[in-house]
Amino acid sequence: MSKHHHRDRSWAPAPEPLPREAWTVDDHTHVASVVPFSRAMSHEAEAKGQPPVPVYDVDEILGQARAVGVEGIIDVGCELPNLRTAVQMAVDHPGLVHAALAIHPNESVLHGHRGVPGPDGLELKYKPWHDVPFEDALAEVHRLATQHPDQVVAIGETGMDLFRTGEGAKELQREAFRAHIALAKELGLPMQIHDRDSHREVIETLLADGAPERTVFHSYSGDAEMGEIAREHGWYLSFSGTVSYKGNDGIRESARLVGLDHIMVETDAPYLTPMPYRGRTNAPYMIPYTLAALADAMDLPLTTVAQATRRTVRAVYGV
Ligand SMILES: [Zn+2]
Repeated sequence: MSKHHHRDRSWAPAPEPLPREAWTVDDHTHVASVVPFSRAMSHEAEAKGQPPVPVYDVDEILGQARAVGVEGIIDVGCELPNLRTAVQMAVDHPGLVHAALAIHPNESVLHGHRGVPGPDGLELKYKPWHDVPFEDALAEVHRLATQHPDQVVAIGETGMDLFRTGEGAKELQREAFRAHIALAKELGLPMQIHDRDSHREVIETLLADGAPERTVFHSYSGDAEMGEIAREHGWYLSFSGTVSYKGNDGIRESARLVGLDHIMVETDAPYLTPMPYRGRTNAPYMIPYTLAALADAMDLPLTTVAQATRRTVRAVYGV
């Protein structure tokens, strides 16, 4: 039997709540996606005769986050059908939820383009909403951001992803990224970057077009050399559970390089669950585990690091 067969689908236990003075914000998460993701986990556990795994709704997920000191989240809608979902969640939970909107790099290349070649062995899946041309999809981001200025606090996640998108669609993806850079600047909003296996291309593009004043690398995955470039340009690094993974010394060193004024913490739920729960369903209540790993990486007290992330969220997103 494969190792996969025995994977634990249950929720990780709640961490120790953050002390009041260390409350912070999850600056990049996909709470709407946690619900169907955990439902799938629940079904899988049931099929394998494992103990029942509860499925929580959005309110319960937000309540669990608040209970451990996560006093806010930025929910990211980055597929055309999810843009409104993120805005609505923010409307329904004033002060607690804000939204970031964009057309994800791997989505952007599909809009208006059937049969985009992925790298070897991977194919990007064309869905009905991809019939909408990219320009029209981005116009919807623009429209929602303009109509909901109290809810939409960032353009993201945008950027490049050469892991999912092959060389064939690279320039198409770069053009979509450039359009998002222009939009963030036009609206005066910060930008959250998705950069997977494309550090060089992302940096090149930012420098060529001029990065928005507040530029955030979400789930930062660079090495120390890239951390130095981020420091030089005043870019912000948002750390996910990957900061706790073995072998990611470059990520941890980058946190030390940019320092307390340029760090934030996120879950990117339902993925990238921090250690020691890697592989389980992620949700905003897991933030204290990632904060602990980040504090450890920076060799600073948890409260100092948590307060820094909270201050940075305010400076970058105004919330
Ligand atoms: Zn994300």
